[in-house]
Amino acid sequence: MKRIAIMGGNFSGIVVANKLAKRLRWSVAKGDVEIALFDKSPEYLIHAMLPLITFGSMNEKYAVGEKAELLDPRIKYFFGKSGEVINVDLANRTLILADDSKYSYDYLVIASGADYAPEEVPGLLRDYHTYYTLEGTLELRNALQGVQ
Ligand SMILES: Cc1cc2nc3c(=O)[nH]c(=O)nc-3n(C[C@H](O)[C@H](O)[C@H](O)COP(=O)(O)OP(=O)(O)OC[C@H]3O[C@@H](n4cnc5c(N)ncnc54)[C@H](O)[C@@H]3O)c2cc1C
Repeated sequence: MKRIAIMGGNFSGIVVANKLAKRLRWSVAKGDVEIALFDKSPEYLIHAMLPLITFGSMNEKYAVGEKAELLDPRIKYFFGKSGEVINVDLANRTLILADDSKYSYDYLVIASGADYAPEEVPGLLRDYHTYYTLEGTLELRNALQGVQ
């Protein structure tokens, strides 16, 4: 059996996983291929909605949902500690996960996105607001609405 591991399961990871599951459906059904998706969080976040939430024209509940609901049932998924990749052993083609388990793969898709690091920019945190994260969005919305 060939094993395909997808590290990161927000939009890029989910799209790749679903496309592979559809194209390789017969191989998955015969047990020749396994597609496994790993993510530290079970919830997706639609970033494009964050500016709307910031300015109070949308409720945050519409921006989040369960990743599992978007995945083709042929895909195995691991969320939380069992989905958090803490190391990739390239030489042995193995993912090391936060719950101390391992997953050996034949092919690896890296779709882990990017984290924002405002602290890396000198002075930026002095008077900093962001709508690049849900927490930042809610904080900024409250500030704009005068809520403490
Ligand atoms: C404010 C804002 C507005 C935007 N508006 C638009 C828009 O209108 N249209 C548009 O096309 N794009 C928009 N974007 C960009 C879009 O949101 C991103 O391009 C998209 O989210 C990227 O998806 P991704 O799956 O590649 O990465 P991400 O969404 O960053 O997902 C990465 C995933 O990897 C997981 N992950 C990371 N590290 C690990 C690890 N070690 N182990 C396991 N899992 C891990 C994370 O939990 C996450 O689920 C916007 C972005 C922002 C911030």
